[in-house]
Amino acid sequence: MSKEKSKALYSEALKFMPGGVNSPVRACRNVGRTPLFIDHAKGDKIYDADGNEYIDYICSWGPNILGHGREEVIAAVKNACDRGLTYGACHEGEIELARLIQKHIPSMEMLRLVNSGTEAVMSAVRAARGYTKRDRIVKFEGCYHGHSDGLLVKAGSGLLTGSIPDSAGVPKGYTDNTLLARYNSEESVRDIFNAYGDEIACVVVEPCAANMGVVPPKKGFLEFLRQITKQYGSLLIFDEVITGFRLSLGGAQNLYGVTPDLTTLGKIVGGGMPLAVYGGKREVMECVAPLGSVYQAGTLSGNPIAVSAGIATIKLLESIENLYSEIDEKAERIETAMRESGLNVNRVGSLLTAFFTDKAVVDYNTAVSSDKEKFSGYYSYLLDNGIYAPPSQFEAMFVSYAHSDEDIEYTCEIIRKFGR
Ligand SMILES: *Cc1c(COP(=O)(O)O)cnc(C)c1O
Repeated sequence: MSKEKSKALYSEALKFMPGGVNSPVRACRNVGRTPLFIDHAKGDKIYDADGNEYIDYICSWGPNILGHGREEVIAAVKNACDRGLTYGACHEGEIELARLIQKHIPSMEMLRLVNSGTEAVMSAVRAARGYTKRDRIVKFEGCYHGHSDGLLVKAGSGLLTGSIPDSAGVPKGYTDNTLLARYNSEESVRDIFNAYGDEIACVVVEPCAANMGVVPPKKGFLEFLRQITKQYGSLLIFDEVITGFRLSLGGAQNLYGVTPDLTTLGKIVGGGMPLAVYGGKREVMECVAPLGSVYQAGTLSGNPIAVSAGIATIKLLESIENLYSEIDEKAERIETAMRESGLNVNRVGSLLTAFFTDKAVVDYNTAVSSDKEKFSGYYSYLLDNGIYAPPSQFEAMFVSYAHSDEDIEYTCEIIRKFGR
């Protein structure tokens, strides 16, 4: 496989963009490779600038649950383009998309369309603070909620001190109100609430974590978060940017049967276009401007092209029979192959991660115990065999409806041969 064109493009890109990329994980630095430049993608395949073909298990980090370039979605986008790219004004599509979302996620009684997952979570947290008139928030180590200041934190000296920024450029004061708990640890959450319960505006959590690799919630964990937030008058925010329309049409909240106060969506809901959503309880969302005093706005929010892609995608997800059981079954086949080759796998639905540790991965500490060198070797092995998987231990592998039986079978064969 020649990589000459990708390499040449990469050295050009390095002149213009930090690390040659517009989002850091794409630089493939953790795995000691250079990025492939993509020419086009279709179905379950992605093609680089040198004409190499790969089976894609990144799926744009989640949006492409139907694979690349699904006909109906492309047609909807083309049709929308003919009617203008942006109005900065109300249009009927916004209502149609909102209605579809609410039909499947009824806890989103009112919602707002925004442009990225980062913006959705940032705005949901602001609404929670405005509604509760409290400042502190709780998040979990290893959960990712976008790159807004207050959510880019790492553990301070102890659980009960404010966290410290996990990025240069974030003033200490911006993270003082962010308290960091351990995923799947009821005790860590209880300790924080014992100390600060009446000051906590919200707990924000990935109901199934997928940004430290896939880490499912332990039985009872989400129910516990529901109960303790209610007890203290705090709000529970499910960040379903990955899990929404992924784990089921109704997302993780439907799968696990726990209802949050606010939900954020992104990735799939935009059908491959930049669109995200936050919403939830009516009385909370009524705090948002112009009804209330929580300010939030967006020039391109509700963009008609993005909305058309979202509507077309959700309608397909509704209409394709057995879609979720089929993609879950495909992912299960890959999981089985991974186990046969001795890997430690976490899988929930069509999300899966192989870890290189003997420990059960249940939180951030156990996730980072994975051997990074072994992961890099595994990544390179897959890539060199035409399998495009995430270049980071802490990202999920995404299976789509477009993954063909043959391609799944080929992937399983390659994985079974790993390390032999
Ligand atoms: C991807 C992601 C985000 C951020 O979304 P962007 O569109 O990249 O800003 C937030 N939360 C979760 C759970 C995500 O996976």
